[in-house]
Amino acid sequence: MTDNILSPKCKINKHFCAEEEFGMKLNELLSKQDITLSFEVFPPKVTANYEAVKEAAYSVAKLAPSYMSVTYGAGGSTRDNTLKIAKGIQDTYGVTTIAHLTCVGATKEGIRKSLVNMKAAGIENVLALRGDRPKDFEGDPFANYHYASELVAEIKTFGGMCIGGACYPEGHVESENTKQDILNLKKKVDAGCEFLTTQMFFDNNIFYNFLCRVREAGIDVPVIPGIMPITRPVQLQNAVKLSGCNVPMRFRSIVDCFGSNPEAMQQAGIIYATDQIIDLIANGVKHIHVYSMNNSEVAKGIQDSLSRIL
Ligand code: FAD
Repeated sequence: MTDNILSPKCKINKHFCAEEEFGMKLNELLSKQDITLSFEVFPPKVTANYEAVKEAAYSVAKLAPSYMSVTYGAGGSTRDNTLKIAKGIQDTYGVTTIAHLTCVGATKEGIRKSLVNMKAAGIENVLALRGDRPKDFEGDPFANYHYASELVAEIKTFGGMCIGGACYPEGHVESENTKQDILNLKKKVDAGCEFLTTQMFFDNNIFYNFLCRVREAGIDVPVIPGIMPITRPVQLQNAVKLSGCNVPMRFRSIVDCFGSNPEAMQQAGIIYATDQIIDLIANGVKHIHVYSMNNSEVAKGIQDSLSRIL
């Protein structure tokens, strides 16, 4: 087992982004910094709410996380805004960003154009995803790219980008079983994926078990746990619907107890996520990604609770 797990000498380091790390490749940043805490934001879906969503994403950037990821709307619906927000965060706040990119319904020319635009915007990192089948897509949305590994290979050929990918500690919803899912994941890494970020999970033992199995399969790139602070019961319902993730009784009781009181639920959700992160760091995990969803209050709550640890 390498890098990301169970190092007894877990050195404590400030995670804040130093100026010289601005716009750097994430594989370098991850190997250089002892501990990283990164935040995810989403871009505006429509022009009408562009400024409000941009301001929310920027307020997360003001917290100076190690890096930030910017999601890509289903079927490419936010292509331009993903890039604009990622560039804006880098240029305005000096926080390195990674832009998500999906290949569902995409053409080879469209993907190459996106990569050219990313490079021109100074984005050095891309999270290469297949994406989900759009509801109203006519034809085969996976005709040009069947799996994310094919997109990874395309980006590798394009060159000059650090490529990340997604992984699923509880198995991807479409996969036959977790063993096959990990074999498929290995193909993605072999195609050129340099690190992986996980789907959310609420029981750290699921992550530790997954990490052992991933390492046994010969996957040796960093695996970054994705932590989702649940601040409203509906988020948990959506997470379960989307990913089929397991909800431990301990967390279910918390949501049942505080779910009808928004302030109490937000506080409990931040504390539960922070507790997960502390356990991960205590067990040698060096890099943590938080699904902060443009909520700077939640991101700050987690960051403040870890101020003596990071
Ligand atoms: P893949 O790696 O291609 O896997 C998809 C399925 O195909 C899996 O079941 C896998 O086992 C199987 N598979 C892979 N390779 C093979 C093969 N060679 N043969 C047979 N089967 C194979 N969605 C968005 O639309 N926008 C986002 O910004 C976004 N960000 C995400 C970030 C993270 C960290 C995660 C975990 C997910 C994100 N998603 C996003 C969701 C993602 O697009 C969906 O989960 C999608 O269904 C799978 O994408 P993937 O890249 O993991 O696909």
